Amino acid sequence: MRKTAALTLMLALLVALVAACGGGSGSGGKNGKVGISMPTKSSERWVNDGANMVKEFEALGYGTDLQYAEDVVENQVSQIENMITKGVNVLVIAPIDGEALTNVLDKAKKAKIPVISYDRLIKKSDHVSYYATFDNFKVGVLQGSYIEEKLGLKEGKGPFNIELFAGSPDDNNAYFFFDGAMSVLKPYIDSKKLVVRSGQTNFDQAATLRWDGAAAQARMDNLLSAKYTAEKIDAVLSPYDGISIGILSSLKGVGYGSASKPMPVVTGQDAELASIKSIIAGEQTQTVFKDTRELAKKAVAMADSVLKGKEVEVNDTKTYDNGVKVVPSYLLEPVSVDVKNYEKVLVESGYYTKDQLAK
Ligand code: BGC
Repeated sequence: MRKTAALTLMLALLVALVAACGGGSGSGGKNGKVGISMPTKSSERWVNDGANMVKEFEALGYGTDLQYAEDVVENQVSQIENMITKGVNVLVIAPIDGEALTNVLDKAKKAKIPVISYDRLIKKSDHVSYYATFDNFKVGVLQGSYIEEKLGLKEGKGPFNIELFAGSPDDNNAYFFFDGAMSVLKPYIDSKKLVVRSGQTNFDQAATLRWDGAAAQARMDNLLSAKYTAEKIDAVLSPYDGISIGILSSLKGVGYGSASKPMPVVTGQDAELASIKSIIAGEQTQTVFKDTRELAKKAVAMADSVLKGKEVEVNDTKTYDNGVKVVPSYLLEPVSVDVKNYEKVLVESGYYTKDQLAK
């Protein structure tokens, strides 16, 4: 008898201990607990997204469990499973692979835990309540238009050489970025004012699994040695700052960035610190700023409204079909940033301080 009582006590203590240690950050919270599942810490933006959401949720009286899966799909699935087991009240998820969460979200559905898709669309599940993101097609349009403007394509200049990079094929956003950019660039490719010497103009040929900068660098090395020993390259469409950094290393490796061999126009996305410094140094040419503070606020407001049974503010009910349903969405506006406007857009808005951008 005594033995059993001691064992029960020990078990109870163990359960309490596991519950107390389980959270990535924060604890209970008077209004409930939120499970926040982010893809990776390897890119600054997701670190900021997570931190911003924790801050906003805590200000509204929620506890948080913030987890990063380091770009391993199985990690993300088991982290979400744990959140469900621990009984979070709502889940906010930026998926690594948009199509890999169907089963785990069935469990969330059974447990009546609503799900907000964050930045990236969760596909193949009917259990996605809302989607907070940016106008992803426009991100691509901003990248494509920047190349168009810098090269003077509208004025009839050219032909110019360009190579194309796309994001991860398991991320729905990557297709929107590429399609947006190609909506601007394809007419010039068709009229031969833009020449893709590699011939790699399809999404599949341009894709970069998991947005890996090293993989992009290796592809760029191959393109340069196969197609650009006699010819110079004038522009590179890059969908993300981490990929741009890989591309730039490759370019520098064969002597671009000097007076006789200037850097081509290289686009990017996320306004990551290293890339803004690179823009100031005259290497990367452009990036697309997506204010993660605003996105975090949006997602938090959505989750809060869902939990309180209030109406959720959306501004797009047509674009984001996840294969099972069209997910009601709120799209924020992306902003193109280069050396001319980075101070106004990033420093004056308090996103970065002057000190952070100093060498
Ligand atoms: C995000 C981008 C980011 C990329 C790589 C996309 O889903 O929308 O902001 O650059 O993932 O992390």
